[in-house]
Amino acid sequence: MDARRNWPDLPDANGRFGAYGGRFVAETLMPLVLDLERAYRDAQADPAFAAQMSDFLRDYVGRPSPLYFAERLTEHFTKIAEAEGLGGAAKIYFKRDELNHTGAHKINNCLGQILLALRMGKTRIIAETGAGQHGVATATVCARFGLPCTVFMGATDIERQKPNVFRMKLLGAEVRPVTSGAATLKDAMNEALRDWVTNVDNTFYIIGTAAGPHPYPELVRDFQSVIGREARAQILEKEGRLPDAVMACIGGGSNAIGLFHPFIADESVRLIGVEAGGRGIDERFEHSAAINGGRPGVLHGNRTYLLQTEDGQILEGHSISAGLDYPGVGPEHAYLNDIGRAQYLSATDDEALAAFQLCARLEGILPALEPSHALARVGDVAKELGPGGLIIMNLCGRGDKDVFTVADSLGVTL
Ligand SMILES: *Cc1c(COP(=O)(O)O)cnc(C)c1O
Repeated sequence: MDARRNWPDLPDANGRFGAYGGRFVAETLMPLVLDLERAYRDAQADPAFAAQMSDFLRDYVGRPSPLYFAERLTEHFTKIAEAEGLGGAAKIYFKRDELNHTGAHKINNCLGQILLALRMGKTRIIAETGAGQHGVATATVCARFGLPCTVFMGATDIERQKPNVFRMKLLGAEVRPVTSGAATLKDAMNEALRDWVTNVDNTFYIIGTAAGPHPYPELVRDFQSVIGREARAQILEKEGRLPDAVMACIGGGSNAIGLFHPFIADESVRLIGVEAGGRGIDERFEHSAAINGGRPGVLHGNRTYLLQTEDGQILEGHSISAGLDYPGVGPEHAYLNDIGRAQYLSATDDEALAAFQLCARLEGILPALEPSHALARVGDVAKELGPGGLIIMNLCGRGDKDVFTVADSLGVTL
């Protein structure tokens, strides 16, 4: 049996992961987040909540998602390693969360939060969205449970993401344009927080990633941890041992923390996140690598690594994948980075684009551009671990949504 080490149960009572997290909110928001925390503790202690969750995860989301041996990709990196005079490459497995209903991992979290909202007797749901993926997942669960849904979205993003805006409308949601600031994700999140304070009594705010004030980073992590729990059991069944590394892309960090968390106490398992390196990590900030290219600060109710100027102005960020261009990262990742338990690499737009095409041709799977960033680093890790090594990479979304972006980047007119 692999060694498991005692691991502190974080966040602490104040919602802190070491120096990160917390609840930096206005006085008016404090009762709401405290109320949410009470309701969440109550749900955690109730077996009926867990049973309800697992029924919907199975029959509506389509879980468990398979753990798939990416044999041709493994052969590809093995050949490269041999040509370089190395012994070979590790086996690569994909955790196939792209097969979920709505095509990504976001539904795991939205389902958990709407069931919590129903327990709390809330009758209206709000959410923020950037690329529209979280908006679509939220609109989906709202349709399923018959709750009205308002999605705050930057006016700039509405213009850029028309298909997702239409999807949300088909699902019955109202998409409310936000024109403040740069009219993108950060501004949409501020506006959603403002609406929440104004409509305390009936409204539940479904946050889309493992960020925001405590207890959001914790509850989003818990709802996404189904990914890592399944993966851990599946690899033990297939290989009879734990993997040497688990890898995932990092936007706000929800799919990554969901995969990492059940492995945190397993000392032998390396946790590797891959941030969006955009056009390169330098002072132009044309990337979304908050850990590799940002500094700690406070945004959206928590302290974490952020893309910011010398004088603390939060920056937009850039990535070829709309789902990765959040200017921060979940606070638990900031902590895992600082204590050295997890490692954060990055991949550029071009590297992600190349990995997208490689995966399509070798495995017959169009990955979303977000996990294509993790795919872009998986070969390096496979070579480093060498033959006999085992990697699980979270294929957290499917690439159908990205074919126009990919065509554009390749200079193809559709
Ligand atoms: C939204 C999204 C992401 C980024 O969000 P995380 O919270 O970092 O997981 C990554 N991949 C896909 C497919 C997404 O839709």
